[in-house]
Amino acid sequence: MISRVDLHLHSTASDGRFSPSELVAMALERGLLAIAITDHDTTAGIDEALEAARGTRLELIPGVEISCDVPGQEVHLLGYYIDHHDPHLEGKLSDFRQARLQRARGMVRKLASLGLPLEWETVAELAGDGSVGRPHIAQAMVRKGYVASPDEAFDLYIGRNGPAYVERYKLNPVDAVSLIKQARGLPVLAHPLQVTHFLPSLIEQGLVGLEVYYNGYSPEVIRELASLGRKYDLILTGGSDFHGSGVLDGVEMGGVSVPLESVERLRALARIRA
Ligand code: AMP
Ligand code: ZN
Ligand code: FE
Ligand code: FE
Repeated sequence: MISRVDLHLHSTASDGRFSPSELVAMALERGLLAIAITDHDTTAGIDEALEAARGTRLELIPGVEISCDVPGQEVHLLGYYIDHHDPHLEGKLSDFRQARLQRARGMVRKLASLGLPLEWETVAELAGDGSVGRPHIAQAMVRKGYVASPDEAFDLYIGRNGPAYVERYKLNPVDAVSLIKQARGLPVLAHPLQVTHFLPSLIEQGLVGLEVYYNGYSPEVIRELASLGRKYDLILTGGSDFHGSGVLDGVEMGGVSVPLESVERLRALARIRA
């Protein structure tokens, strides 16, 4: 089953394997009607994707995914229909990418001290012009033969509690909601299963949606999250978090069923805001 909508995709602008235009081509091939490109801490892929989707029946929604600073937990905010050239947003994202670079260098240093040296050039080449992330370091480790898979790199070394993990500068979730809003975007809490306790403060700040349809979420989890979302009158959104085969195993573009209504409601809200 392929969904008509996928609101969570990564491109080579961050840690995805496919370029923005390749993602658009895949979406068209698969018959999708709307996709959002939501790269980590960058909107660098959006213009290319908009260009590729122009004149087709595919709606390309400009998006971003911002990682937040919450000790011990992954809290990520998605921003939809953002003004991807907003100077303030661009400035902040550029700071985050700079922090990613410093942090990646720190992780390479830690790995070296653990007896697992990597050439920085390899990590830089894997990241290309994009936002550097742990998946690039994981890939470099696979190339060296230190681990059999990216998963193993996360499990043994670069996961949150791993010996080579390094923190980096991030916004707190409430400020991330504000940042998205001030760039005229619609803030949505990503893969919220473990972090729904943040909802009241985020909603107060202007959160409009909850990503309830997500890769790996069981029908029961989806039902629970959907009922929570409805209680708070949030738009229920979803997507695959597709990074390209092999990066996060078993996820396909369009592989998570997301109702068209998700896009219709987001689009309607974006129009009111415009
Ligand atoms: P970063 O943004 O640099 O902290 O890296 C986090 C990213 O790593 C996530 O968005 C996923 O794309 C990826 N990731 C997280 N856990 C794993 C894992 N176990 N195996 C492969 N990739 C992962
Ligand atoms: Zn990622
Ligand atoms: Fe995420
Ligand atoms: Fe993601």
